[in-house]
Amino acid sequence: MPLLEVRDLHVEFRTREGVARAVNGVNYSVGAGETLAVLGESGSGKSVTAQAIMGILDTPPGRIPKGEILFRGRDLLKASPEERRKVRGRKIAMIFQDALSSLNPVLSVGYQLGEMFRVHQGLSRKDARARAIELMDRVRIPAAKERVGDYPHQFSGGMRQRIMIAMALALEPDLIIADEPTTALDVTVQAQVMDLLAELQREYDMGLILITHDLGVVAGVADRIAVMYAGRIVETAPVHELYKRPAHPYTQGLLDSVPRLGPAPHPGSGRRELRVIKGLPPDLTRIPSGCAFHPRCPRAREMCRVGEPLLYRVPGERRSACYFWKEVVGD
Ligand code: ADP
Ligand code: MG
Repeated sequence: MPLLEVRDLHVEFRTREGVARAVNGVNYSVGAGETLAVLGESGSGKSVTAQAIMGILDTPPGRIPKGEILFRGRDLLKASPEERRKVRGRKIAMIFQDALSSLNPVLSVGYQLGEMFRVHQGLSRKDARARAIELMDRVRIPAAKERVGDYPHQFSGGMRQRIMIAMALALEPDLIIADEPTTALDVTVQAQVMDLLAELQREYDMGLILITHDLGVVAGVADRIAVMYAGRIVETAPVHELYKRPAHPYTQGLLDSVPRLGPAPHPGSGRRELRVIKGLPPDLTRIPSGCAFHPRCPRAREMCRVGEPLLYRVPGERRSACYFWKEVVGD
């Protein structure tokens, strides 16, 4: 049994322009000790799916008309608010992109880390502080003992994100959802924070869902990837297979738009060619019929406008929601 399994999840928002269908039948699962990367452009429904799992979706305007979120086989969508509170933080923890707005600016980081132990485990102030220092050491914040009384703004962006990781780890959850955990950081710091997260995930044997719009950041640490477009999964694959041979035209477009190392195409220009997928992501109140990607797809045919492709099997461990593969494998 997977640790977490999302089945046919739908989330919609009532807006002035109409009903925005942000999540339209997402299926994904993650096991203990496994890292699943969820990749997609901004607005594809990655964070909303995570909010639904955590039980922190704004309802209203949000609503979950359909779906299941099975945690160790139990549907969280059917759990009582009390049961969900017990899961949140203790069993499933979340790391957000923006540490500054997640941490309280007027409390020391040691106090905020220690609070986890005081509130959830009833530790004394002194013991909670000792555990906070331990955790800061664990996420390799230099001179943890001296810095435990410092405030969030006294730390660099990378160090603050380490503090967020420490908060998520505090209660030793089974699953961590990291939503663009390194997006706000410099490239070199991104890699350090990502490596730390991967190391801790292995050590604690946790499941990890790594949400990103940047495949480059997660390629080295994820086991599998699920690619989202317009609130649906359009491709799933082991990360190395996806990187080598993307199966869905959308994934191919995403990979083509990643700048690769190599000589500049125009000598002396210092710029590398960046091929961006043409067109815009769809308006979620008016998602195109059939395959939502068809208006932007170089391979689109009439059938793509009409029917909605399922996730067909692709050679290897892959699946792709594209009619091209239905014909190839005849699934
Ligand atoms: P991303 O893949 O970038 O994380 P999100 O999951 O945050 O995308 O959002 C997907 C879409 O859901 C957004 O483009 C927006 O239209 C809609 N949405 C998200 N949160 C809300 C909200 N609180 N109210 C209305 N619409 C929302
Ligand atoms: Mg997001």
